[in-house]
Amino acid sequence: MHKLGLVINLTLVLLTACGQAATAITATPLPPEEAAFAQQRERMVIETIERRGISDKDVLDAMRAVPRHLFVPEGSQDHAYGDYPLPIGYGQTISQPYIVALMTELLALKEGDKVLEIGTGSGYQAAILAEIPGIEVYTIEIIPELAESAHERLESLGYTSLHCQQGDGYYGWPEHAPFDAIIVTAAPDHLPPLLLDQLANGGQMVIPVGPPGGYQTLWKFVKSDDGELKALNMGGVAFVPLTGPGAEEHGGEGGHEWPLP
Ligand code: SAM
Repeated sequence: MHKLGLVINLTLVLLTACGQAATAITATPLPPEEAAFAQQRERMVIETIERRGISDKDVLDAMRAVPRHLFVPEGSQDHAYGDYPLPIGYGQTISQPYIVALMTELLALKEGDKVLEIGTGSGYQAAILAEIPGIEVYTIEIIPELAESAHERLESLGYTSLHCQQGDGYYGWPEHAPFDAIIVTAAPDHLPPLLLDQLANGGQMVIPVGPPGGYQTLWKFVKSDDGELKALNMGGVAFVPLTGPGAEEHGGEGGHEWPLP
């Protein structure tokens, strides 16, 4: 739970009247600017997320809880709750809210799961994952400046138990594998084999795969309890490319042999 949530400070006051105990609840209102953002956030959840079919309560609660306006550059805060990606510097973007909600729902997270995100960016998706009850979040960002600012932002908002790392996520995070869920928020042109290897049996991976600069396919991979893979095509998306030595070296033919349908 981020610190803003604490602003709605419920104070329990025990009163005694006519020999009976009563409970009164007082709420400290949000500052007007935050209240306006909270209203926009609620509208975003109802109009662009619930209405388009996202129904997982934990995901909806997370989208309601995370102050997206604090994850975008100051000059873009008025657009933070629009259903589109926004630039965050270094040629990168914070993903569109609907896609964040969809990818989170597709992970089918359950209490006790360990999830790996490739592409921390602003830290917004990581915060959404961290809001899902009982989930341990690992996130990797390749651009040092973004990795540092996302880490600081997440810490300042109270997301102190997230594990952040700067590096090339193409190789996953073997020291903490296997992961029950993996989410990739930048698009490689093939399936990075080490990410599949680091997915636990019974786990799910959500990843856009396709050519850089155009449209890609959003895939959900399900690894059965005996390690068999099933691929589900979730439709067209447009992501920034997965960059770095791993993706470049193994691009094209070097990827996993999984025959994408
Ligand atoms: N999830 C992010 C958020 O909530 O703000 C948005 C992600 S943005 C669409 C994609 C991010 O992936 C960029 O920050 C980019 O630098 C990062 N990225 C690209 N290639 C990467 C790699 N090989 N390893 C880790 N991060 C990578």
